[in-house]
Amino acid sequence: MAMRYLKNVTTLQLDSDKCTGCGVCLTVCPHEVFKMQAKKAVIQDKNKCMECGACAKNCAFDALTVRAGVGCATAVLVGLVKRTEPQCGCQTESSCC
Ligand code: SF4
Ligand code: SF4
Repeated sequence: MAMRYLKNVTTLQLDSDKCTGCGVCLTVCPHEVFKMQAKKAVIQDKNKCMECGACAKNCAFDALTVRAGVGCATAVLVGLVKRTEPQCGCQTESSCC
């Protein structure tokens, strides 16, 4: 099941004027938030964003901004309430939780 977050709350913003279409954000995003369209990145599903910050950190052209950490903080809080391990959906080698 694909991880989704609360609708329309993510702080993710993409400035298409600054986007060069390098494709790095598609590579680093663990939730397939972006796709390429007319040689530029576009947001295909904003509600999949868990605000990990990887895209903004790796965009060399400052085309992306996001308030990193909010989604993960929520995952940690839910884990505490449910007494389970935090699950933010970014279980990679560099995962945050
Ligand atoms: S990393 Fe930045 S410049 Fe490259 S495709 Fe994504 S938004 Fe565009
Ligand atoms: S902040 Fe993380 S989850 Fe959201 S679009 Fe960027 S890389 Fe993807």
